[in-house]
Amino acid sequence: MAPGHRSILIAGAGTTGLTAALELARRGFRPRIVDNDTGTVPLVESRALGVNARTLTLLAASRVTDAILQEAQQIAQFRMVANGKPLAVLDTTKVPGRYSAIHALAQGHTERLLLGKLDDYEVDPEWQTVLETVSGDLQKPVVTLRKPDGSVETAQFDIVIGADGAHSAVRKALGIGFPGEALESSFYLADFRYKREIDPHFFEMQLFDPGMIGRLPVERDVLRYISTLPDFESRIEHPAPVAERLWASNFRIHFRHVETMSKGNVFLAGDAAHIHSPAGARGMNLGIEDACWLAWLISEGREGDYNRLRMPAVKTVLKQTRQLTTLFTMRNPLAISIRNIAVPVLFRLPAVSRKLLRGVSGYDTPSPPWIDGAL
Ligand SMILES: Cc1cc2nc3c(=O)[nH]c(=O)nc-3n(C[C@H](O)[C@H](O)[C@H](O)COP(=O)(O)OP(=O)(O)OC[C@H]3O[C@@H](n4cnc5c(N)ncnc54)[C@H](O)[C@@H]3O)c2cc1C
Repeated sequence: MAPGHRSILIAGAGTTGLTAALELARRGFRPRIVDNDTGTVPLVESRALGVNARTLTLLAASRVTDAILQEAQQIAQFRMVANGKPLAVLDTTKVPGRYSAIHALAQGHTERLLLGKLDDYEVDPEWQTVLETVSGDLQKPVVTLRKPDGSVETAQFDIVIGADGAHSAVRKALGIGFPGEALESSFYLADFRYKREIDPHFFEMQLFDPGMIGRLPVERDVLRYISTLPDFESRIEHPAPVAERLWASNFRIHFRHVETMSKGNVFLAGDAAHIHSPAGARGMNLGIEDACWLAWLISEGREGDYNRLRMPAVKTVLKQTRQLTTLFTMRNPLAISIRNIAVPVLFRLPAVSRKLLRGVSGYDTPSPPWIDGAL
């Protein structure tokens, strides 16, 4: 069947849904994409910052990568400091391939770049449109959509993609469980704008006994601090005078993934299918990866392989983020002492730093077979 003749609905216009729409549109499909919000996430409330090399590889064909590289900050180093003393440094530019391991760009910017490219294919998200139910024969699912004026549309599609985030209505409608665990402690974040430019090219993790504060670049004059300590703001050593505290939030971390990423012709991608801690900056990147794989499989008529091909990647990333989170959040004094002795030694081992860099780059999941030479 010609691409344009398969009707596709994407629920959710976050990074996952927008990527799915763009990857389908550039292959000749005309997906509909709906979102219950009024537009993309506000620039100052961006959750994801890290864009990894895998994502840059995947988004090169749609030219979103060029646009990201123009706006993003390249992160050249990952530094770990324990109680004020340098513990380890990882050079994040030393990875094979075209792109360095990770760049920083606020999620709101990434969403706007995806939206801009999608507009070239005349596919526009239908905002303030809520997917309420998915029912019927899941080989040809029936969906109800509540429109901005309150009216309800009922429509049948060949394919439905649930990219509707952690509380996914699509996942719930399919009766797919979301097993896993929540960490007991909360995480806190705050973004600060400075009165002058700061060095945006490194990410630093300060470890205390116990607790941590991570420092991440957002823009040339904006930094994000993320911490396990409720009073972390009083411990921040600002690199320049603060112009403005832009945003602050707190959240709990869950590690969960679905038992299956598809039922019939209904597919789950991104946070709808898996959530985990921000350690390693994987969530948005993994959702973008899901979306690219699904669009490719649909174009090949092989969407039935989606769950089998994606689930190992999801499990790999959840395991890696769980290990990193444990390393950064340990509370036992003996374990903390051992960590502080072991980390400098381990980081110097080429095999360990290579493995870490593969994870940060996103190269530890299967490489996309449709891209020549992809790592
Ligand atoms: C503090 C923090 C830092 C993070 N840092 C990083 C990072 O550096 N790198 C990284 O890769 N990831 C990071 N993440 C994770 C990342 O933010 C998420 O994984 C990513 O936003 C998931 O994108 P998504 O499109 O799957 O879901 P979402 O961004 O949640 O988008 C889902 C969309 O679906 C819409 N929607 C919901 N329900 C419906 C419905 N019923 N009908 C229609 N529309 C609906 C919503 O309005 C929303 O627009 C971080 C997360 C947090 C909390």
